[in-house]
Amino acid sequence: MRIDEILSRKRTLSFEVFPPQKGSEDKEKLFGAIESLKELSPDFISVTYGAGGSNSKDTVEISHTIKKMGIEPLSHITGGPSAPEEIKRLSEELEDCGVENVLALRGDKPIDMPEDFEYAKYYHHASDLMEELKGKFCLGGACYPEGHFECKTLGEDLLNLKKKQDAGAKFLITQVFYDNSYYYRLLHEAKEAGVTVPIIPGLMPILSVKSIHTVKALCGSVIPLDLRNMIEKYATMPNVMHEMGINYAVYQITDLIAKGAPGIHLEIMNKAETAFEICGRLKNVFGELFR
Ligand code: FAD
Repeated sequence: MRIDEILSRKRTLSFEVFPPQKGSEDKEKLFGAIESLKELSPDFISVTYGAGGSNSKDTVEISHTIKKMGIEPLSHITGGPSAPEEIKRLSEELEDCGVENVLALRGDKPIDMPEDFEYAKYYHHASDLMEELKGKFCLGGACYPEGHFECKTLGEDLLNLKKKQDAGAKFLITQVFYDNSYYYRLLHEAKEAGVTVPIIPGLMPILSVKSIHTVKALCGSVIPLDLRNMIEKYATMPNVMHEMGINYAVYQITDLIAKGAPGIHLEIMNKAETAFEICGRLKNVFGELFR
């Protein structure tokens, strides 16, 4: 089912997974995790796509498996590394697997790509990829509550966000954030810029010192002072740190839902137990406010 149709009826609960790097054993583990996530009735599960494009087969295979398990997949595609014929082949493969939803992205040139490789040669921006894919899939795009790092101002970024909507995006998922006020500011400013599609907040709990490095490497999101203080205090106590991270995500979600967020998208680093811990503490919120 198309995600825009689901969003028109209800608030969505969704998870993000990524293709494991180490091959078949980890993939089987991931499939087991996805199977168990069915119990939480997610509205969709998104599957990331390598910025260099080399793991596109894994994204297709995992999306297909999710579909076969009876959950709606959202397949990410980064246009940056690809030529139009590759995008055509990939979109045919996804269509053959019954995938209806694609998160269209540009990606960033990986550091290990040859210097002379012209990244984003054919699809300069996500909106160019959307123009190519619209009509084939229900399209989503990425957005940035703290502004995208290449943009000088948030205003400029928002004008570009409107271009994604004009190019066919039916919903947006945010970069992860830890201070909800960035999300509320984005909602307000995006509306002023004419962006009317639902903007789903993307969250990733910080459960260990290692995950702080992941956040820094992935997006550099601001860590608010109160969270930073707790991280510093609990860094040497893994169990306390883990509990704090779960509780902080629970707090963020409760606040976001109270203020009307159209859904919650959780990056769970392929760990079903993270989803279960968070959803377990929010049984009534998900039970009563996500119908
Ligand atoms: P764009 O929309 O092209 O934006 C990049 C920059 O260009 C921004 O500064 C924007 O303001 C500007 N811009 C956008 N459109 C235009 C236009 N038409 N004209 C002029 N300027 C424009 N990366 C991966 O490699 N794989 C993934 O699976 C993946 N999933 C992600 C999921 C989410 C929810 C998010 C938030 C990010 C994800 N990323 C992923 C990271 C993403 O690829 C990077 O953030 C990248 O830097 C920008 O991608 P984009 O699609 O937003 O690009």
